[in-house]
Order: sequence, then structure tokens, then C-alpha cells
Amino acid sequence: MERTELEKAWSETLSSIKERTNKGNYNLWFRPIKLGELNDEKLHLMVPNTFMRDWLRDNYQDVIERELHNTTGLSCSVVIEAEASPTPPADPLEGKRPTRPAKRTVSRTLPRGAGNAAQTRLQLLNPRFTFDNFVKGPSNQFAFEASRAVSSQPGGSYNPLTIYGGTGLGKTHLVQAVANSIKARMPHLRVIYTTAENFMSEMITALSTNQIEGFKRAYRDGCDVLLVDDIQFLAGKTSTQEEFFHTFNCLYDAGKQVVITSDSYPQEIKALDERLRSRLQSGLVADIKSPDFETRLAILNRKAQSMQMELAEDVASFLAQHIKSNVRELEGALIRLDAFSSLTGTPINLITAQNLLKGQISSHRRMVTVDEIQRRVCRYFSISQTQMLSKTRVRKIVVPRQIGIYLTKQHTDLTLTEIGIKFGGRDHTTVLASIQKIEQLMVEDMSIRNSVEHLEKHLET
Ligand code: ADP
Ligand code: MG
Repeated sequence: MERTELEKAWSETLSSIKERTNKGNYNLWFRPIKLGELNDEKLHLMVPNTFMRDWLRDNYQDVIERELHNTTGLSCSVVIEAEASPTPPADPLEGKRPTRPAKRTVSRTLPRGAGNAAQTRLQLLNPRFTFDNFVKGPSNQFAFEASRAVSSQPGGSYNPLTIYGGTGLGKTHLVQAVANSIKARMPHLRVIYTTAENFMSEMITALSTNQIEGFKRAYRDGCDVLLVDDIQFLAGKTSTQEEFFHTFNCLYDAGKQVVITSDSYPQEIKALDERLRSRLQSGLVADIKSPDFETRLAILNRKAQSMQMELAEDVASFLAQHIKSNVRELEGALIRLDAFSSLTGTPINLITAQNLLKGQISSHRRMVTVDEIQRRVCRYFSISQTQMLSKTRVRKIVVPRQIGIYLTKQHTDLTLTEIGIKFGGRDHTTVLASIQKIEQLMVEDMSIRNSVEHLEKHLET
């Protein structure tokens, strides 16, 4: 087969995969693949690192082979390989600096005046956030594995690591688990965990007390692993971003590990320095989605266990069925039930749980009509209902239409086919695609998520 033919076949396969998966997945997993040779019925594909290689082999190899076959008729097997890059030693930072006594205290490693800041940062780190008590599921597995990989090889292949996802889905838990794990297993590494907000306030304090040099040194010279939570906070804050960017580069160039979390995909954070964005994107970007039913159930059981709370099976599945959006809410519900149970001295059964959580969950939610949803969405986006139901594909209309469809699925009992009919005679696959699109946008695009959450809040009252 000619090279050009092979390239064409591969690009068709990619297009077909692109249609079948969401954008985030596609960009993360398929876009970086480089086409290798076709030898002996084996098509070689190259990816940047071993982590991606293993992930693709485990999760997508058969998808790739099937699509290749279906779109081009080529029935060869696929061999996924990592591009040769030297594997870093277990601790790449080891030996690069003089060893020092392990018991050296934080305040002595930092310039004078920085003691308070270091103290505050220590308080930010919660020892409860560990890998062991993080429940793995399809929604968070990638971010989990990536975090684990980083914690066993800081400064190795996955640098910087960016974890992004909606609120309450476990970003802080994971990034702190990285910090806690490195601190425990590699005590000679100096780990700084901070939030972007704290970084800014430290910087402002340092500026106003003439200690900016100390601040810079603390982050640039006094740090082997830097973890910064909620980077989206820096959006629009130009001078803090500038300082952060220099810190980042300085550490990165010295082979130090950087881990960032964000509530949206780096490219989607508006008003974030383009240089910083592209730096983040050149590393490993891992997302966390909303957990599926089984994962929600597992989280509830794990949490109940750690609270030494008895959680009946039917109560657990009732919670998992109705509290879907985020883990923090799941935990909140458990805490309420537990508080009630210890105040009254009675165990929680299904009826009590339903009563206690009435306001919070959907089985007691007022049923809304599809017409009401459409009117509210249209009013919110200032479009007409006729436009919403029309065939037009302009984005200004498509997104509200998809949101309308999504909300109808969440808040009524209509089937996909029925929803399609109500939304201008669309078929059920279009309806499904719209719902998936909104689920994806809610992770990637803060403004969409805000709109949906706002609309949902008002639907329920
Ligand atoms: P985020 O930073 O993404 O807003 P957090 O990390 O603060 O979310 O998570 C919210 C709460 O949910 C925390 O108490 C965290 O321990 C818990 N949590 C989230 N995901 C999981 C998980 N997969 N397993 C166990 N606990 C989880
Ligand atoms: Mg957080």
C-alpha cells in the first residue's frame, strides 16, 4: 500500500472516530496519535508516552481496529507504541542537589517573613485526601491514574499535569493526594500545595511588605513539586499570572513537577495568558466527569464506612439515583442523614431518607412540562420558540436547543423519541447526541454550566 493511500485511510478512520466520540476524548486520545508503518498486516501507531500507549491499548485498541476496518476495509491489527523517550529514573530529582538532613524545618528552608505563608499553605493541605480513599470509576480513572503516575515519578514524563472538571468532582482530592503521597514517600522533596487564590494573596502581601524577592525564592528555589489548585481563579488577573508564569517556567525548566487543577479545559479558560495555556496543554491534560451510578454508589458506601455510619442498601441506591451532579452533594446528603440519625437515635430507612432530602432530590421534584422548559430556555437566551424548534444550525440557536433537550431529559419522563418529536421532529439519535454534547460542555465550558445550573434552579421552584 502506498504511503499516501495509508495516510488517507488513517485520516478517514480518525474522522469517523471523531464523529463517534466527544471532542475532549478525541483531543486527548486520538489527536496525538502519529501514523507509523503498515507491515505484515500490522499498522503501527505512535503516541507520545507509555501512559497513553497503555491507556489506548486497554481502552481503545479495538475501537481503532473496528473503525479502520469499517471505514477503509483494511483488516489489519493495530500496534500502539510509545515514541522512544528515555524513561526517567524513579526519582529524577534525586542526586541533582546536595542532600540535606531530612528534619530541616519548613521555616528554615524559607526566607524570613515567609513563615506565615508556609504555615497557611500547610493548613490548606488536608491529610484526608489520599489515593486510598478515592473511589475510582470510568469518570475519573484517567485523572486518577495520571495523578498516581505523577506521584510515583515527579518531574517525569507527565509534566505539567492538568486536571480539569466540574465542581465537586474530586480535583482537589486528587491533587492533594499527589501532594500527600509525595510528602510521605519522598520526604526529601519540597512540596508546595497552594490554591491560585492563595498564591495571589501571598504575592500581594509580599509586594506590600517589600518581600517579593523572598516570595519568588520560596516558589522558585524552595520547591521541587508545585501543585496549584483552581488556576481558573487567575483569569484576568494579569500581574499574578505573569508572576505565576515565570515561576512555572523556572520550575519546569529545572525539571520540577507542576500539577494544576482547573474547572475547565485550559483552552476554554478565558482571559488566561496564551503562553500559560499552551504550556499546560503541552503536558498531560486529564479530565474528571460526573460519576456514573455505580461509582456514586461505591463513593457513598466508602464514605459511610469512613463515617462509621450504617447505610442500608435501598437508601444508598436511592441517593445514588437522585443525586447525580457531584460528589460533594452526595457527601452532603450522607452527612445530613447521619446527623439526623445520631440526633434522634434512630437508624435511617428509605422513608426517612426520602423525607429528609425532599428539597434536594428529583423524585420529589415538581414535574415540569416540555413547553415550560422550552419557554424558559428561550427567554433566558432571548430567542423565540419557533427558532428553537426550527432546523437552523447557527450556534446561537443550537446550544439553547441542546440545553432544552438536556433539561427535558433530566426533568421529565419523556423518552428520547418523544423528546425528539417535541423539539421539531428530531430523531432519537439527535436527541441523544444533544444530551451528550451538553454533558460534555458542562465540563468544558463554565458559561454553559452556569446557564444550565441557573435554568435548573428555576425549573425546580
Ligand atoms: P473539586 O475540587 O473538584 O471541586 P473536591 O476534590 O473538593 O472537588 O471533592 C469534593 C468532595 O468529594 C471531597 O470531599 C472529596 O473527597 C469527595 N470526592 C470526590 N470524588 C471522589 C471519589 N472519586 N472518591 C471519594 N471521594 C470523592
Ligand atoms: Mg477544588
